[in-house]
Amino acid sequence: FSKNIISFKPNKIIWCFFIMTKNIVIHWFRKDLRLLDNPALVLAAEQGKVLPIYILDNDNAGDHAIGAASRCWLHHSLKSLNASLGGNLAVYKGNPLDIFKKIIAIHDVKAVYWNRCYEPWSMVRDQIIKEDLNASGIKVQSTNGSLLWEPWEIKKDDGTPYKVFTPFYRNGCLQERFPREPLPVPANLEYYKDIDGSLSIDQIKLLPDVGWDKKFEPFWTIGEAGAQLRFQHFKDKGLSQYKDGRNLPSKPYVSRLSAHLHFGEISPNQLWYDVKSLGDDKNIDHFCSELGWREFSYSQLYHNPDLPTKNLQKKFDTFPWLEDQILLNAWKTGQTGVPMVDAGMRELWQSGYMHNRVRMIVGSFLIKNLCQHWHHGERWFWDTLVDADLANNSASWQWVAGCGADAAPYFRIFNPVKQGQKFDPEGKYVRQFIPEISSLPDKYLFNPWEAPEHILKDSGVKLGVDYPKPVINLKDSRNAALEAFQSLKQDIS
Ligand code: FAD
Repeated sequence: FSKNIISFKPNKIIWCFFIMTKNIVIHWFRKDLRLLDNPALVLAAEQGKVLPIYILDNDNAGDHAIGAASRCWLHHSLKSLNASLGGNLAVYKGNPLDIFKKIIAIHDVKAVYWNRCYEPWSMVRDQIIKEDLNASGIKVQSTNGSLLWEPWEIKKDDGTPYKVFTPFYRNGCLQERFPREPLPVPANLEYYKDIDGSLSIDQIKLLPDVGWDKKFEPFWTIGEAGAQLRFQHFKDKGLSQYKDGRNLPSKPYVSRLSAHLHFGEISPNQLWYDVKSLGDDKNIDHFCSELGWREFSYSQLYHNPDLPTKNLQKKFDTFPWLEDQILLNAWKTGQTGVPMVDAGMRELWQSGYMHNRVRMIVGSFLIKNLCQHWHHGERWFWDTLVDADLANNSASWQWVAGCGADAAPYFRIFNPVKQGQKFDPEGKYVRQFIPEISSLPDKYLFNPWEAPEHILKDSGVKLGVDYPKPVINLKDSRNAALEAFQSLKQDIS
């Protein structure tokens, strides 16, 4: 402790006095809620005693303040991180610039470290904070702790960003350089704790008043240790089947690491090097290329800050979307009467997650069969996914709608019946999430409206009573969507 004594809050009648610890460095945890392979934390630990902080910032995030399901995840992830930090995590809520000003007024802070975030709003905020802290004589250093390549690094020879995934990944990323190798947990991490100014994790009130978050519990082990367990499980049970098996929603062949990655409980660098160390085969290559899709989403967001709200292909601006709350609510609640769609929406509601194949099916159905604007899907996913991620979510919705970079052509409309028959051939996924039709034979499981009356009766299913009749005719709505698309093309020609 130094002998330095400063005064604080001079406008108050009571003057507070603090004994300052010299040379504190702050590590600002954001989307890097881990100790392993945390480059900014390693740098901070080399400099002195570390004050580890987390700030819940809803002030700068605007429409992209963290959604309800992600808030639940964050609560448990912060608890886990705090335990790993020996209970020293200082938590705050509000505008980070104001919070930093309060912290530096009380503590002798010499430097602040963080791993970069890439949401447009956080990049603007961070630049302002950096300039402000620098002006107060405090060093600020940021590093890359969440991407394999910086989004500004990967460009075509002419200096423009890639618009198509394969050349982005193969000619851009893979030719640029090897990703940074993972780092160990910093040795001898010494902590400093802000006892006076910070809040407890419970005080920032991330959990809902009504405990609906409890339903997520069986699905996840949230936090860094849980991420490592999940990764190990994937290496044992999924990776060797990944390339083909990743399309089968009832099988354990995907990693389910997306929320752990989003919150930075595990780094993509660790995933990359760990799987590469297991050999060289099509499954490993394919898994790494999916990490590449994540990089591609971040590249799109970086180069198009409007990605969450504006069509990348402007011709879609005049698309004749319908507004229909009844159809939208049927989709959100898994009551469309189209089993593969409803199973996906119910998986989402129950677990905060949906398998990638099914995300594409429910997205196509919403946009193309129900003719609802992709923004509605993006917003619902934002609130209900535990892995809601501004880059991945926006880029993926634009991809499904056909208006994004390297997007699925608008005329490719998923048939949810055929998709179910192909990717859930035994009907396990649909039966798990729609128990009321589980007795139907496989032949009619994905299209119960086509089942003869006696089959429905033998299966104990009354359509329109136990399970809805379809809210839309798949064939007619498909044709209407194609017609709307044609008219769009004529508009712009
Ligand atoms: P795995 O197959 O095990 O893949 C490993 C990791 O690679 C994933 O965790 C993810 O980080 C990344 N990845 C895989 N597929 C994609 C992809 N298509 N695009 C970008 N990254 C990918 N992913 C999110 O992380 N957050 C979102 O908010 C999100 N919204 C989506 C919305 C729609 C409409 C669609 C079609 C996809 C969305 N995705 C989103 C992408 C993808 O569905 C999920 O990343 C994937 O399902 C997560 O499951 P997993 O971890 O088992 O993936």
